[in-house]
Amino acid sequence: MPMNTVSRRQSLLFFSVAVLVVGFLLFNRQTDTAVIHEFGGGTMGTRYSVKLVDLPSGSTLEQISVDVSRILERVDREQMSTYAPDSELSRLNAAAVDQDVALSDDMTEVLALALELNHVTDGAFDVTVGPLVNRWGFGPEDRREDRIPTQAEIDALLARVGSHHLTLDIDSRSLRKTADVYVDLSGIAKGYGVDKVADYLDSRGVTSYFIEVGGELRIRGYKPGNQSWVPAIEKPVDTAPQVHNIFYARGEPIAVAGSGDYRNYFEEDGVHYSHEIDPQTGRPISHNLAGVYVIDSTAARADALATAFMVLGVERGFALAEELGLAVYFVARDDVNDTFVDRYTTGFEHYLDSGN
Ligand code: ADP
Ligand code: MG
Repeated sequence: MPMNTVSRRQSLLFFSVAVLVVGFLLFNRQTDTAVIHEFGGGTMGTRYSVKLVDLPSGSTLEQISVDVSRILERVDREQMSTYAPDSELSRLNAAAVDQDVALSDDMTEVLALALELNHVTDGAFDVTVGPLVNRWGFGPEDRREDRIPTQAEIDALLARVGSHHLTLDIDSRSLRKTADVYVDLSGIAKGYGVDKVADYLDSRGVTSYFIEVGGELRIRGYKPGNQSWVPAIEKPVDTAPQVHNIFYARGEPIAVAGSGDYRNYFEEDGVHYSHEIDPQTGRPISHNLAGVYVIDSTAARADALATAFMVLGVERGFALAEELGLAVYFVARDDVNDTFVDRYTTGFEHYLDSGN
């Protein structure tokens, strides 16, 4: 999901204020029975929403919602957006080759995870695909008339792609690019933002919550009445969101990320071009996998892994997910029978059962 443009940000900001006001009207009455408090807004070119049960004493919903919006603003605009020219990431992308660039703690953490997951996924998750993301029209640059690049253009851009061109020094928190690399964190930053919000709510003593940024979730505790939070798996259709299946958090603290080829794509001459780019070919993925859901301990990991599985496809993705013992749900298209085929790992089975 691309991050914000300025004009889009302004309208989202307005909308977030509207949501907050409605949220307070509905939920600010103090009652003895547990209620779900809710607020949300816009961030990273998409929407976020936070639901929490029982405010800790000494906390107001207003303060928590202001803090959360500030936390997401920081991850987005100040740190990881390629849309904001003065973000830490944009400055890093503008830095010269072979120069050491100092990083914030957050950026160090995200880049370390991105490089680890690049390794784990055989290169399927690669934050250096940025030049290709942009050329295919899924980045901050204006759309071009000739949206489909030639093979020669793709080859030229691929020469700048590859996580081996990044040398990260975790101890000194610095990064060196050994080629003209352009980093795109859109496949991991939403998840990281969700984790930051979860850390904050944990630190405030909130014990039951449901956090979402553009489809990436962190869940903890139960809904009122000791009921499990029930995340939905969407039917991979591009009309309106529809529930395809559900699963149960069962009171466990979990992170969930969903990735799909049906939300951010374009069509030309009947061909579907999605925003997940295969770093090997330099082209948008083209296989029958329509959506992937990953349950993991942190949303940043789940987010990046979901993108990686979209790139790998069902066959390779499923084998890797089982090998790593991950909880992953795949939804594939069966064009012959005009239907969807589900496949999930052993680890995911546990969550399909309500536990009651
Ligand atoms: P989804 O919207 O399907 O959940 P994400 O938002 O997590 O997907 O990630 C998709 C974004 O990640 C793309 O818009 C692009 O900016 C970036 N991206 C595309 N391909 C890759 C890849 N192979 N590895 C890492 N990031 C990618
Ligand atoms: Mg992702």
